Amino acid sequence: MTPALPMLRIGHGYDLHRLEPPAPHGRGRPFILAGVHFDHPVGPVAHSDGDAVYHAVVDALLGALGMEDIGQSFPDSAPEWEGKDSATFMEAARRTLEDKGFALVNLDVTVICERPKLAPQKSQMIANIARLLGVDVARVNLKGKTHEKVDAVGEGRAVEVHVVALLAQVAAS
Ligand SMILES: [Zn+2]
Repeated sequence: MTPALPMLRIGHGYDLHRLEPPAPHGRGRPFILAGVHFDHPVGPVAHSDGDAVYHAVVDALLGALGMEDIGQSFPDSAPEWEGKDSATFMEAARRTLEDKGFALVNLDVTVICERPKLAPQKSQMIANIARLLGVDVARVNLKGKTHEKVDAVGEGRAVEVHVVALLAQVAAS
């Protein structure tokens, strides 16, 4: 018989968005990460608002719950998600997590982009994630890295985000 194990679940989330200038020179939307708008000449090409941090966080939470990714829950083809504020996806993921009897232990977010510099907005980004998930900011970590000027991310043509989330069961589902 398998000995009782702590009811912990880990999840990984990943997202990447191509960055383009706004219309008419490209299809980029305003540059947004974790609900913070950055003044930047290029922005994410996306069906929703293209918030790569929120998308990767949602995928980490859904992954930890053993569920399909954000693309299955909120399909690109659905007109109601056109230009949608991705906070909506975060709120939906939080509800799912709570419905299944889990709570967030901690979240570690790595944002990879050459520009803009994230540091001045880091605490606001963390505060936004924590607020939407209903947890203390101490449970959310976020760091920014560059891609050393190589490949699409390093050339400023894409933004990439990795997230690891740990959940603990707090109620029988
Ligand atoms: Zn995305």
